[in-house]
Order: sequence, then C-alpha cells, then structure tokens
Amino acid sequence: MTTQSHHDPAYLDSLAERFTVLPNDNPASDAKREGLIDKPAFGQVFSDSMAHMSWTKGEGWSDRRIEPYAPIKLDPGASVLHYAQEVFEGLKAYRHADGSTWLFRPDANAERMQNSAKRLYLPEVSVDDFLASCAALVLQDRKWVPTRREYTLYLRPFLFASEPFLGVRAPQEVDYCVIASPSGPYFPGGVKPVSIWVEDKFFRTGPGGTGFAKCGGNYAASLVGEYRGIDQGCEQVCFVDAATKTYLEELGGMNMMVAHKDGHVETPSLNGNILPGVTRRSIIQLLEDSGHDVVEKMIVLQELLDDIRSGEVTEVFACGTAAIITPIGRFKSEDFDVTVGDGEPGELTMKLRDELLGIQMGEIEDPHDWMWKVC
Ligand SMILES: *Cc1c(COP(=O)(O)O)cnc(C)c1O
Repeated sequence: MTTQSHHDPAYLDSLAERFTVLPNDNPASDAKREGLIDKPAFGQVFSDSMAHMSWTKGEGWSDRRIEPYAPIKLDPGASVLHYAQEVFEGLKAYRHADGSTWLFRPDANAERMQNSAKRLYLPEVSVDDFLASCAALVLQDRKWVPTRREYTLYLRPFLFASEPFLGVRAPQEVDYCVIASPSGPYFPGGVKPVSIWVEDKFFRTGPGGTGFAKCGGNYAASLVGEYRGIDQGCEQVCFVDAATKTYLEELGGMNMMVAHKDGHVETPSLNGNILPGVTRRSIIQLLEDSGHDVVEKMIVLQELLDDIRSGEVTEVFACGTAAIITPIGRFKSEDFDVTVGDGEPGELTMKLRDELLGIQMGEIEDPHDWMWKVC
C-alpha cells in the first residue's frame, strides 16, 4: 500500500505525467460528444484519445503516450491474431455531483491484470503504469465522463503480443492500450431479473485452464454456450464446472451470489476456474459490514435448485463492473426450469446495488477508501 492517500488527486496526477500527451487535431465537437454521452452506445463509441505503451524483450516498457484514438497498425503475422496472447481489464470513471472524477479500486484491476498476464506468458504492466495510463486517459478525456447517475466512462485496458511471428513462444513485442467508451445504465427501463441458461456441455474453461485470467480466449470459448442459452429463450448463460458438471461457477462475464432465508450469502469459491471479480470482492465486504455471513464454497447446482424450490434460497444475483448487480429470476436447462422467489428483484439484491452505486457516485460514505480521485 502507498502511504500517500489516493483521495489526493495529486497522487494520480503525478503518476499520469509518465504518459506524454500527443496532439489530437481532430477531437469530437462539444455538441457531438454531448450527444454521444447522452445516449451512449456502449462499446461502439470511443472517446477522443487512447493510452498506449510498447514493450520489447530487450528494452521492457517504453513510449508511454496518450494518442488520438485510431486503428492500431498490426502485422498480419502478429502472434495475438494466431495464438490469442491477450488479456484485458474493465473499470469505470465516475463523475460526482461536485464535478470531480473518480475511479473505483483501480489498484485491484491492476493487480488482476498482472495475474492474468502471468498466466498467458505476457509481460506484466506495473501497478503504477496501469494506474498512470487510466488516470492520464481520464484526465485527457475528462469531458467524456458523463454526469448522470449510472452513466460512466468505461475504461478497457488490454495487453497483447504484437510481434510478427508464427512460432509459438514467449512474446518478444507487446502492446498495452487503454480505450474508453461512455456507458449508460445496464437496465435503462429499471432493474429486471434475467433468465439464466445453465450450460453443461460447452465450457468456458476447466481445471488448470485460464478461468481466473481475464483473457479474450475465455470469452471466445463461452460463445457457443451463450448462444445455446439464447436459442432457449434465456438472456445469460451460467457455467457448471467442466470436470464434474456438479458445481455452479459463474456467468460468461459476471460472478454469482446466492442469498439464503436466514440472511447468509454463498458464492462460488475462487477455485481457479472463476474470475476473481472486484465487484464480487466488494459485495462480500459490504455484506460483512452489515452483519451478513458470507460463505465462499463449491455450490452444488442440484442443491441450489432444491433450495430455490423450497424457499430456503430467497435471492440470486450476478455481479460485475458493467451491470453492478443483476438479479437472477430463473434457471433453465434441458432438465429443469426454476423461478427464484416471485421472479422480481429481491430486497437484499437491490439494497446492495444501491449501496455500491452510492459509493461509486459519491452519494454515501466510502468506508474502505475504494474511490481514487483523478481530477
Ligand atoms: C470481468 C469478469 C467478471 C467481473 O469482474 P469485475 O471485476 O467485478 O468486473 C466476472 N467474470 C468474468 C468471466 C469476467 O471476465
């Protein structure tokens, strides 16, 4: 931990200076930008700039810059296009009512990206370079951070092997970038429970695999399952463990929590297959703060279904940066179709959602120092 408070914007400010701002001759006009922020098309519209730095085996990281957002020049032989050495992160910049701009636990994302990089045999980005790149991009494009509640600037850091080489080996040239996309509420018409397809044939990962790493390959592997779910009329897919098909793991891009009648909450333990979510970790803390017992364990799917049917389990929800908390209203597979509670968002689910969003938006106290001020 650093001794200087990260509530002091001077801290991120001084880190951000590592990234040199290159001129941008063609930023969006104020009117265009405000229109784009007002009706955000998540992941389709990007801010004016991007952070970029380069790595070579001999020189390490260099050339830290904030450059105009533009296509990347990549050799068709670049390793990532053939062998998928790529990892990424996702976090958000929040605008508070007083106009200040903040990040939520970016140190946790930085550490996770290092763990992901190690698993994919990519060089690590230092925590300070990660923080610096995010802060420098937000500083440069601060006008792209929306003001309304649940509207944010989503940051997408990513790291990939860029050298042209068709042999499989440890990368010799790597690029790291951060891009930013304005995003609005995940549920524009109000929070609604989603239906979940329980996938037990096509898995996103398995024992000893890359499940704990945030890598693009996991998502590529999840798509067949996702679309099997969509074909069955479900909105999201949840995976069971590949080895025994017995235990609940997580959704394609969100962790899961199960609330019991007596107030305790269970969540699948981090067994190497599951992505250690920053939202998951934060919600465990908030639950414990308010006196709930949280049990991290292997959750048996069959027991969950029985407990939902008997009313022992009262609420189930998914959690992740993009949607914060998503109530789960239904589980379906070839063998069952079970509704959770009365199919409406549960009380605890909505309370946690409000609490976490309240901290992120600066509306309530931040007891664990999770927010980092950028400007
Ligand atoms: C990113 C991600 C999550 C959620 O992590 P957060 O840090 O809470 O956003 C959960 N599962 C998978 C597979 C993910 O990629």
